Order: sequence, then C-alpha cells, then structure tokens
Amino acid sequence: MQSDIERRVREEVAAKCALATQLFHVDLSKLEINFMRGRSAGKAQRTADGRIIAHFNATILEANPEEIAIVVPHELAHIIGYLRPSLGARHHNYGWWAIDNALGGTGSVRHSYDVVYAHGHTYEYTATCGTKTRVSKVLHERIQGGQVRTLRRTGGKVTATCAFSVIGSNGLPLATPVHVEAANSPKTVQNFALQSGSAAVATAPTLASRLGLSKAACARRLMQIGYQQGNSYEEIIQAMMRACGYNRNLARATFKVNAARAGVPEDLQ
Ligand SMILES: [Zn+2]
Repeated sequence: MQSDIERRVREEVAAKCALATQLFHVDLSKLEINFMRGRSAGKAQRTADGRIIAHFNATILEANPEEIAIVVPHELAHIIGYLRPSLGARHHNYGWWAIDNALGGTGSVRHSYDVVYAHGHTYEYTATCGTKTRVSKVLHERIQGGQVRTLRRTGGKVTATCAFSVIGSNGLPLATPVHVEAANSPKTVQNFALQSGSAAVATAPTLASRLGLSKAACARRLMQIGYQQGNSYEEIIQAMMRACGYNRNLARATFKVNAARAGVPEDLQ
C-alpha cells in the first residue's frame, strides 16, 4: 500500500514533470519512481538499457517533509540533463543548477543527494585545489594510468597521487564508500593495506579489486605511499602481499619491475 509520504512525492514529481515538459520539451512519460532505503534522500539513475528512474527515500522524507520540494527538482534536473545533453548539465554544474532553479529547486547540493554512474564504480577524487570531482570507471583508469586532468573551473589537477573514494557502483551509492588517501597523506602503508580487512580469508576480494585498480596499479600506489612515508622495503612488500594477494616472490618481482615508474629506488632497504 502506498504511504502518505509516497503519495506526496509522486504528486510533487507529477507537478514538476508537467513544468519541465513545458520548459524543456522533454518526454518524462517513461520516468519511473522508486522508493529506496539507504543514506541518500534521492538519486537519479539511467540504466544501461535506457530506463530513467528517480529514487526517493521515504524514510528520510517522512522525517523531513520540507525536503520533498528540494529533492524532487534536484533529481529531476539530473534526469532532464540526461535526456537533453544540450542543456549542459553534468553533476552539479551550472547547467544542472539552471534546470534545478527553473523547477523551483534551491540549488542545494548535499552529500545526501547523490548521483552516481550507471556503469561500474563511481569515483570521487580530491583534486590538488581541494575540489572534489566525480569520475567514471574509464576516467579513473586513465588517471591511474598516469593521465593528468585539469579542472576547468579551478585549474586544479587530478592525478594518480590524489586521494579518491569509490562512492558508487552500478548506479547505486555505496553504503560505505571505500577511501584511498593521497600519496602524500600521513597515512602509512600499513594502514592503507589493512583497509583490505582480514587478509586471512582467501576468498575475500583483494583491496586492489575492491578499488577497481589493477594489481600493478595498486602495487605502484603502495610503493609511492610507502616510499614517501619512509616505510622500509619489507613493509612495502608486506603491504603489497596483503593488498594484491601476491606471494612474496611476486611482490618482490613487482616491486623491481615497477620501481622506476613509481619513482621509487629499486634498491630501497
Ligand atoms: Zn545531485
């Protein structure tokens, strides 16, 4: 049975869809409305097969009914951005804000209003200027492969040594984002590797796979962090074994092969 709060959300969506159809000439007749659990008040999703879904959290909205008027335009603005790329809406940029504003939204961008990519992991990097920016799996792999991206607005750089979190997977936000510290953060190699949890469980996914990194990329990252933090060769090898599932020989060989590329001396003690 439909709850009172669900009915109110559906009414607000219907009203805003009518307005959006007038203003932006978009076809929202196929928009699906879903009620979800979790930490987000709302979420906009487009699936691999082209469905568009606005998710709302009835529990959060029941406790904060005044949020309905904020979160509905917020998520619809993402959906309209998907349907009409010419509007230039990406994440919470100016194009998105303009649509949100036209639908009576407040432009409010809270962490609880999340949009994540429909395919693969969604990554949130902290650029050198401190700005957080979200990237898809493809861009993440390019960045980890050495590509440097520059944020147009601030000139900040996004590089393989920046901190990042995995915040979503296949269109849904992760309940517990996985965080990787910047290479120059005061976290040690040991802490980094211990994030992988109980390495004793052979079937547990390795840290590398949980982060969507290749084992080699994960190993290079550990080498850079460990070297910058003054960890010993042995400590770095141990961290690589835990994080990548390597045995000792493989960890040592990987260190040797990747030392130059990681900027770490091959003969580190
Ligand atoms: Zn959003």
